[in-house]
Amino acid sequence: MTKPQYLTGDNAAINEFIDRFDVFLLDCDGVIWTGDHVFDGVPETLEFLRSRGKKVVFVTNNSTKSRQEYVKKFTGLGIQSNAEEIFGSAYSSAIYISRILKLHPFKNKVFVIGEAGIEEELRSENVPFIGGTDPAFRRDITPEDFEGIADGSLLEPDVGCVLTGLDFHINYLKLSHALQYLRRGAVFLATNTDSTFPMAHNFFPGAGSIGKPLAYMMNQQPVALGKPGKAMMDAIEGKFELDRARTCMVGDRLNTDIKFGIEGKLGGTLAVLTGVSKPADWEAKDAVAVPAFYVDKLSDLGAFAQG
Ligand code: PLP
Ligand code: CA
Repeated sequence: MTKPQYLTGDNAAINEFIDRFDVFLLDCDGVIWTGDHVFDGVPETLEFLRSRGKKVVFVTNNSTKSRQEYVKKFTGLGIQSNAEEIFGSAYSSAIYISRILKLHPFKNKVFVIGEAGIEEELRSENVPFIGGTDPAFRRDITPEDFEGIADGSLLEPDVGCVLTGLDFHINYLKLSHALQYLRRGAVFLATNTDSTFPMAHNFFPGAGSIGKPLAYMMNQQPVALGKPGKAMMDAIEGKFELDRARTCMVGDRLNTDIKFGIEGKLGGTLAVLTGVSKPADWEAKDAVAVPAFYVDKLSDLGAFAQG
C-alpha cells in the first residue's frame, strides 16, 4: 500500500498539491471545527484557497442542522459561507427523496427519525413528512399504540419512505411506526451511517446506530445518503458539475471522508490529524482507507502564504 505524502512544512509540496485541484470538498467536524470551536487559522486558510481561485464545498454527515443553520454557525465562527456551498447529509437526503426517488409530487410522505435539520431540508424540497420532532412521537408507547400500529389504524396510508438520522429522542414508539412502514414496503434511507460521533473529547451514538435496530429488524441495509456513500458523491457532482479528477476530499476520518474520496474516484484525498483518525489507523494491516496526502492541521496549507 502506498504511503501518504506528508505535506506539513513543505511549502513546495503544498504549492504543487494546491495546484492539482480546482475544488476542495471539506469535511467540517474535525477539520474546520470541533464542536463549537473553530481551529486556529482555518478561516484564513479558506480565504487563502479561495484567493487561489479554488472552490470550497463543505460536506458534513451531521444531519441535525440544515444548510441555513450551518451558514449561521459558519458566520459565528468567522467563516464566510453561503447555503449554496454547504452539503449536509440532511440536504443530501432531501434531494435524493425529491429528485431521485421522486416521492414528491406524489404526496408520499416520509417517516422521519431525526431532528429539525432534516425537517427543514425536506420542507425546502416540498417533501411532506411525519414523525421527526412532532411531540406526538416523543413519548412512551401505550397499549392503544400497539393495537393501532398493528392493525394499521394509527398509520398513515401514504408513507413512501423511512428516513433515519441522528435523533436525540429515539424511542420504542418511533421504531414501532418505522418498522410497520418498512414492512409495508417503504424505502429505507439513512442520512448517514456513522456508528459514533465525536463530542466533548469522547464518542456518542451516531446516526448509524439509530437506524441499525431497523436494519436488524428488517434484515436489510438502508440506502445511506452521507459519506462515504455513492449517492452523496453523485449528488455533489451533479450540483457543482465538478471534474472528479481535479477535486480533493479533505477529512479527518478514514471510514467516512477518505473512503468517500477514494470510492468516489476523486483526484486526491487529504487527511488532517485534528479529528478522529491518526497515522496508525492507515498504517494498520486492515486499514479501511489510506489517504494520498496528510497534514497535521488544515491551516498548514495556508501557513506558507504568510511566511
Ligand atoms: N453526526 C453528528 C450528529 C455529528 O454531531 C457529527 C459531528 O459533530 C457528525 C455526524 C460528523 O460530522 P462531519 O461529517 O462534519 O465530521
Ligand atoms: Ca469529520
